[in-house]
Amino acid sequence: MALTKEQIAGFEKQLTDWKMDLEESQSESMHQMHDQETSAFPDVADQAAAETDLSFDIRIKSRELKLIHKINETLHRLQEGDFGICDGCSGDIGIKRLQARPVTTLCIDCKSEQEQAEKTHID
Ligand SMILES: [Zn+2]
Repeated sequence: MALTKEQIAGFEKQLTDWKMDLEESQSESMHQMHDQETSAFPDVADQAAAETDLSFDIRIKSRELKLIHKINETLHRLQEGDFGICDGCSGDIGIKRLQARPVTTLCIDCKSEQEQAEKTHID
């Protein structure tokens, strides 16, 4: 894909800012989890609610971790010049799709094929 230097720099900044936000939120939820672990819950209902919050937190946290990993991979692709090339068909992913979802590694055609395959697999 023929990306201009400005476009590459723009994506790099977008991804780096995004990663910093995620990393901040990761360390925030770490503190919260620590607080919850050390707090006493005299009320059983409170404790149940706190445990529900905690598992919700962990789900979000692990999703964020996966995203951070994907962002790192994407930054690497940007440096290698592989950014914007589809993993499925080696075609161009397209600038519009990349702007909407910069961590994607599949063009819209391969993505919908993959989703179709997953659906068939589940059925
Ligand atoms: Zn493709």
